[in-house]
Amino acid sequence: MISVKQALDIIDSFPSAFSFEKVQLQDALNSVLSEDVFSPINMPPFRQSAMDGYAIQFSKEETYTVVDESKAGDSTNYVLKPTEAVRIFTGALVPDNADTVIMQEHVERLEASIHIKKMPSKFANIRKTGEQIKIGDLALKKRTKLNEAAIGFLACLGITTVSVCKTPSVAILVTGNELQQPGTDLEIGKIYESNSVMLKAALQKAGIKEIEIIAVKDDYQATKTSIKNALDANDILLVSGGISVGDYDFVKEALLENDVEELFYKINQKPGKPLWFGKKRDTYVFALPGNPASALTCFYIYALPLLRKMCGYKNNHLQKVIAKSKSAIKNPSQKTLFLKANLEDEFVEVLQGQSSAMLYTYAMSNVLICVSSETAEVKIGDEVTCIKLDV
Ligand code: AMP
Ligand code: MG
Repeated sequence: MISVKQALDIIDSFPSAFSFEKVQLQDALNSVLSEDVFSPINMPPFRQSAMDGYAIQFSKEETYTVVDESKAGDSTNYVLKPTEAVRIFTGALVPDNADTVIMQEHVERLEASIHIKKMPSKFANIRKTGEQIKIGDLALKKRTKLNEAAIGFLACLGITTVSVCKTPSVAILVTGNELQQPGTDLEIGKIYESNSVMLKAALQKAGIKEIEIIAVKDDYQATKTSIKNALDANDILLVSGGISVGDYDFVKEALLENDVEELFYKINQKPGKPLWFGKKRDTYVFALPGNPASALTCFYIYALPLLRKMCGYKNNHLQKVIAKSKSAIKNPSQKTLFLKANLEDEFVEVLQGQSSAMLYTYAMSNVLICVSSETAEVKIGDEVTCIKLDV
């Protein structure tokens, strides 16, 4: 049995095997850029008015004749004489020889002229060509995770496709004779299969697109064959259940028989002690305990960081924060504890119902409190480390 830190060190020791793909910008939300992106245009592409108002040549004059109009989208470039003004609107082309836009609120409009009530400073209210970014300049750096603003920014530069880190393909293999698909009438002795539904949701949230779900009975041959097929076709294999020491737990043996190298088995933690991690060529395997809450905790702490690293994320581990505990916690077992908890402002409270079979508590928690194996007791008001789940 190894410690949580040893297990994380093993997982973190693997370099992220990036592969790249070109995708439509519209499909690139949460993807990570695999190369620098340079601007193909100046933005703004021309001098734009930042206000609804009047474009003039700045002077001491207070009255100007309105000679033309420039609305957003127009391309006529009127040549102004001194004391002439062009009626202009936000986003419209500013005539080349105008240097100032007066906002309409600062003007009294007469029939064919304007009287300026408040003269702005010279060059006011004009967005300069390339003010946001110039043609050829770095728009976004390699490894930038594309959020909606980044997608909007690249779109405004006219970019339609981007090169991003290819997300790994993941197979989820659920094992167990007792498992029945939701949507059918539950038979005696059976439970609904929920781990694949839960893990798929977690994978989708992490931006994984290729997800295959396989279900297998507690049967050695069937398990072995399913593992072989899943290994051949995926970058990551998540197995659920069958990794404990029961007579019908065949996963470990079936993995070893498929030449998956064991990198660790069993971690000094609660929940999730029987986690198994291995590798065959470029495919990584996490055999997660079947108990739903254990499976999810092992996924968050161990599988997700590796997945996020493969997706190109710089911060691949879930974010940690320190909070004051509203609960007293006893840890006589000298195991690392991951406790489902609720963080509100700077206070965190352990929730009732920590059993690894229960998802009810998990569904209401927003953090896991991590109590180290060396901490025997946490008193109310002590500071604890919380792992944030709202990724
Ligand atoms: P195992 O790790 O296979 O011994 O399973 C531990 C517990 O988790 C048992 O109570 C199983 O019925 C339950 N379990 C295993 N796989 C799933 C699953 N896919 N969905 C829901 N519960 C499961
Ligand atoms: Mg089982």
